Amino acid sequence: MPLSENPGADPDQLPQESVAQATASTDSSVSGSDLQPANLSDTPQSRFLASLWRGLHRAWLTFRGDTVTPVRLASHLALLAMAALVLVLSRVDLPAWEIVRLAPVQPEVASAPAEMAFQPLPMGGSPLQESGVLVRAPVPFTEIPDRPRAGVITYTVQLDDTVLGIAEQFKLNPNTILWANLEDLSKPFVMEVGQILLIPPVDGVLHTVKEGDTLAKIAKLYKVTPEVIVGYAPNQLASVDDALTIGAVLVVPDGDRTPPEQVAAAPAAPSGGGGSGTSAPWRSVGFIWPTYGLLTQRFWLPAHPAIDIGASTGTPVAAADEGTVISAGWSPVGYGNMIMIRHSDGFATLYAHLSRIDVSYGDYVARGQRIGAVGSTGRSTGPHLHFEVQTGGRSYNPLIYLP
Ligand SMILES: [Zn+2]
Repeated sequence: MPLSENPGADPDQLPQESVAQATASTDSSVSGSDLQPANLSDTPQSRFLASLWRGLHRAWLTFRGDTVTPVRLASHLALLAMAALVLVLSRVDLPAWEIVRLAPVQPEVASAPAEMAFQPLPMGGSPLQESGVLVRAPVPFTEIPDRPRAGVITYTVQLDDTVLGIAEQFKLNPNTILWANLEDLSKPFVMEVGQILLIPPVDGVLHTVKEGDTLAKIAKLYKVTPEVIVGYAPNQLASVDDALTIGAVLVVPDGDRTPPEQVAAAPAAPSGGGGSGTSAPWRSVGFIWPTYGLLTQRFWLPAHPAIDIGASTGTPVAAADEGTVISAGWSPVGYGNMIMIRHSDGFATLYAHLSRIDVSYGDYVARGQRIGAVGSTGRSTGPHLHFEVQTGGRSYNPLIYLP
């Protein structure tokens, strides 16, 4: 911390000629005996500062004379650090030259120790903080308190929000967000700016008690035990035999709304069969491999209109060709984090189960540009890339188009 930012030295109160003199003397080397502070009032504090300055100056000359030993250097550094601390804490209106002449010494000898001297200052008690000069501790901004949240809160969708981003912001699984805000999971989840989302306090499911509901039924529905629901204190249930209040919203921690039946259809995906190798439409430019790994599942219709490329989580995934990102986000039908790119000739490629997504809807990406990373999100049994090639509403074997 440069001493010229000393909170006690209000720049507006400095005499202009002092500033000018200080500026001029900055370039000249520190030498000679004209450094005695002459214009300080004769108080014990200023006498202390003056003697401190003389000590510092001698230390500096000794250091420059190259006769310094590590031990002495360390003591000089400590002295400088103390001096810096005293100067700031005393909040004395020092003349400008006093401040600026210290500054050239510091970068060569003691800039680090001077900083170190400030870091151990106790938080909260220092007048520096009341003066508003010290920057706040670097606490990353977040709307979420660190302590566990008990209740359901709402979130208003902003421009550019994604399910994934909101989930990350609230440290929740994206499914938790979907499940709390999508009644019919077979429908696509579309967010609009201004839409109000329910944000559960923990991963799981929210359940509004209906007539005829029992804890056992609810627990079974979401694949948990009744004890889990009772054990979540904010539900305010004393035992599994407690009567439920119709209309009450229960938090089902770790509840699961994943549909039991596998849904094979992709979003915007082709219905029905694609071509075999021989009937696949010709493409002037082939695709490049979106990632590297072993082929762990081949293309076969109708169940798997894709190839699976096994690779460890985090392996980069690249766009197989340039094009526009027409989908990037969480798929409600088992694809997990998914990207779909439309290429200029009408082909589209789909990348599923990603651990991360590095592009957004509407982005134009280059051939080979990194768009995300391999993962195992959605309905997946292990890290791999599920890669589809579609055109004309049908899926084709990607191997046909890969080198
Ligand atoms: Zn697959």
